[in-house]
Order: sequence, then structure tokens, then C-alpha cells
Amino acid sequence: MGILLLLPALLSAQSRREKEKPLNVIILIGDGMGTSQLSIPYYYGKREPVFGYFGNVGLVETSSATHKITDSAAGSTAMFTGRKTYNNAIGVDTDTLIRYNLTEILSKQGYKSGVVTTASITGATPAGFYGHASDRRMHYDIAEWLLESEVDFFAGGGLQFFLSEEGDDRFTSRNIELELERLKKIRRAEPDQRFGFLLAMDGMPSMPEGRGDFLPEATKIALDFLSENEEGFILLVEGAQIDWASHANDTDYLVAEMLDFEETARVAYNFAKKDGNTVVIVTADHETGGFSLAASGKERYSEDYATITPTFGTTTHSATLVPLIAYGPGAEKFRGILRNTEIFFRIIELTAE
Ligand code: MG
Ligand code: ZN
Repeated sequence: MGILLLLPALLSAQSRREKEKPLNVIILIGDGMGTSQLSIPYYYGKREPVFGYFGNVGLVETSSATHKITDSAAGSTAMFTGRKTYNNAIGVDTDTLIRYNLTEILSKQGYKSGVVTTASITGATPAGFYGHASDRRMHYDIAEWLLESEVDFFAGGGLQFFLSEEGDDRFTSRNIELELERLKKIRRAEPDQRFGFLLAMDGMPSMPEGRGDFLPEATKIALDFLSENEEGFILLVEGAQIDWASHANDTDYLVAEMLDFEETARVAYNFAKKDGNTVVIVTADHETGGFSLAASGKERYSEDYATITPTFGTTTHSATLVPLIAYGPGAEKFRGILRNTEIFFRIIELTAE
């Protein structure tokens, strides 16, 4: 009786769902980006930061299964597989068993996926999005995971981990059109054509070294390509060198990386605003550097409060909660204080068929 009464409601919910387009998801990870790093564009940028338009704000707890302070591998695995694991683990749990990631799960629903980073494409953060390895240093295995994965678009560094005697065959046999020189727009793609840009042997150059607009441009090209798919897409974009600059306690480097990341978040926001069917999540895997935008002097004199003296407390990671901001349909699901694993489950809820 109860089941019979429920049936019409279930059927109508189902038919409503079928008319909706799958929700696109863009995740921007500022590796090592705490709230002080996120604050940089407010004091060092030339315009109002795009972050203010996101509207939905949360904080994320980042510890790993084994350590109060996570590394990027366990952080990535938590966000993209929903499992806390040991530091250094890529897409595997504490028993080193494979846990399915967002790329694997959503590709079964017809989603296309993409990954863009300023590090090696085999780096811990992107790796947890598509691959599995008991240790993040297994770059050659991770490279193989990428080639065999459902990732349709990738851009970053790490060419050294793909070089082999097979040469280009490793790519062409997997239907990947590979570019080694520069970014370029994808014109017409065959239905199952994949695209890869590997523009550095290891990490991409830093902003002070002249990386230019690689990150926002690669994001634009990825969005142009992925949004052709009627069945949805998921794109991960990593500002990897926010972490590297923070490890180096190098303010100029960090400021340049954060302004580049803000520019990239603007690309994602503008796309989502126009598209209306895309959620954008900006967050971090952990904080790096114990960074703060401190006052100059040691006393509370007003002149000391006139200028910021960026200060680092450590050259390593920290355990502080990291910021999360979200925009678009379903963005309100990311409000509050979340465990890093909840990011995965909320994305699954939003994209479930
Ligand atoms: Mg990273
Ligand atoms: Zn780090």
C-alpha cells in the first residue's frame, strides 16, 4: 500500500530529472591556499577579486587518515574519492585498495573530464583525480593511469614521465592528440578524440619565471572543448605553485601565483555565469607556510598597521582549516565546515543520475 502510494511521486521525480541536463563541475584547487593566501588579491591585486561573487562560503578540515597534517596526495584522494588515506597515497585507501575517483565514476554517466595544472600532470593533486598508486612518487605508473584513464583533456608539465621507446604511439594508440609546444584552441574534435598539452619536462615555469597566462588560457581551452559534451563535464584546475611559493617562503612568487589563480577563477566564474548549469568550487588541499598578512611592527602602534608584512610561520604544511567558495547550481551544498571527504560526496549528490 505504502509503496503504491509512493510510486507516482517517484515516477514524476524521475521524469523531471530526465529533462534536466547533467550539472557541469569545475573544481579549482589552490594547492597550499589558506585564507591568508586567498586574501592576497584583496591587497595586491588591481581590481575587485572575483572571489566576492561566489556567494557560498565554507571551511574545510584537511587532516589525513594517518597525520594531523596532510600532504597533497592524501588531500587529493580525500576530495576525489571520498576516502581519508595515508600521506603519499594516490587514489587508494589505508589498505592500498583502489577507491574510484570522480573521473572514473562520472565517465560512466557520460561525463567528459579534464585536468589542468601548473605542476607535472602526474603530480599528487591531479593524480588523485584520475589515478591510483601506493606512493605519489610513482610518476611513471601515474602517467600510465592518465593514458588509460577517461580523462579527455589535460594540460600541464611532466613530459619526462611519458617518454618511452614507443614514442608518440603511447598517445596516438589512446586517441590522444598531443601538443608539446604551446597551447592552442581545439577546433573540431572527433567524438572520442582526447587532447593533451605537456609543455614542460617537470613542473611548468613559475609566474616570476614567465609562465604568463598558461593557467587561465588552458582553463578556457578546456572549457570550450569539454562543454561541447551534452552529457556534462568535470574539470579540475590546480594552482600548484601557490604551495611551492609558500614552501619557499617567497612573497613575490606567492603573490604572482595567487593573482594568476584569481584570474583563472574568473575564467571559471564567467563560464559558469553564462552557462547557468555549472557549479564552480574553489578550495585547497591544505595550507602551506603558516602564512599571514601581518602588521609590520611588534607593537600596536597605528603606523605599524598601515602596511602588511607578509609573514611565514613554517616552510611546511599546516593543519588550519582552508577556505572553500562555491558558485552556481548546488553551490549552497558546500556551505559550512566540511571534512575534505565531504567535497566528494556533495559532488556525487549533485551529479547523481
Ligand atoms: Mg599539488
Ligand atoms: Zn606542499
